Amino acid sequence: MNRRAQFLEVLGIATEWVPRARTGAPAEAVPAMAAAPAAMPDARAPAAIPAAAVAAEVAEITEVAEITEVAEVTEVTEAVSAPPMQPAARGPAVPALVPAGPAPGSAQADREAAIAAMDWPALEAAVAGCTACGLCQTRTQTVFGVGDRQAEWMLVGEAPGENEDLQGEPFVGQAGKLLDNMLGALGLARGRNVFIANVLKCRPPGNRNPEPAEVAQCEPLLRRQIALVKPRVIVVLGRFAAQSLLRTTTPIGKLRGTVHAYEGIPVVVTYHPAYLLRTLTDKARAWEDLCLAREVHDRAGARA
Ligand code: SF4
Repeated sequence: MNRRAQFLEVLGIATEWVPRARTGAPAEAVPAMAAAPAAMPDARAPAAIPAAAVAAEVAEITEVAEITEVAEVTEVTEAVSAPPMQPAARGPAVPALVPAGPAPGSAQADREAAIAAMDWPALEAAVAGCTACGLCQTRTQTVFGVGDRQAEWMLVGEAPGENEDLQGEPFVGQAGKLLDNMLGALGLARGRNVFIANVLKCRPPGNRNPEPAEVAQCEPLLRRQIALVKPRVIVVLGRFAAQSLLRTTTPIGKLRGTVHAYEGIPVVVTYHPAYLLRTLTDKARAWEDLCLAREVHDRAGARA
């Protein structure tokens, strides 16, 4: 059984899909890519990849998202036949989920500057001993992240859950198994050419949604991880992580299918594995997202 078939089996979809042969379809038929928004003044703020830079990718990614043989999952057909996605509508300049950056010269600005200069050992120590937000009081341990530190792929989730808090590793349990199978479908494995981390390094009590202030304190740590890994592509898992990283309040359904950017690195948004475990119909869309991420990764490699 090939990788694609294995992946679809994991997703609970019996019939294998075959990406349509590339025919050089016109770019306007392509559903996915975003036009470039205006440049954001904050160097840390994300922006969609400039249209010119991705124009060549657009035509080919169209065919990746298309499926010639679909069975058993009605929503797959709906997804494929849906009209082209519009560029992700940006939220307010400073979305409610992520506060504005620190004032220059403030203690927080100094902290962020210090984090931005850390190497791996220093960053690990900083996370392990971090008390920058109230989550330090309820965690069992911090969850730094796991994987290949020179990986070409980086996966970013929301925050540790109960099992992750206990084991100190992101994405364990059933959601972790699904994630591992998703990685396998891409020819990846935990610890091999992929680094996995969360936006928050400590578990919110009761798995509640993270607070904006917690994200503001923790994001510099993730930002430094990304800067050290230097992945070709970031796959963001779930609404919260996507909105936090991209600084937007746009729903995940509209963030999917578009290549965004964080710190100049392409970002593809898909659903969180825990959500996919509950929602069979969106697993097909997750496969489309991973195909898009693979395409972006391969293109980035070709340009390197
Ligand atoms: S969630 Fe992040 S900022 Fe808050 S204590 Fe944990 S490591 Fe520090």
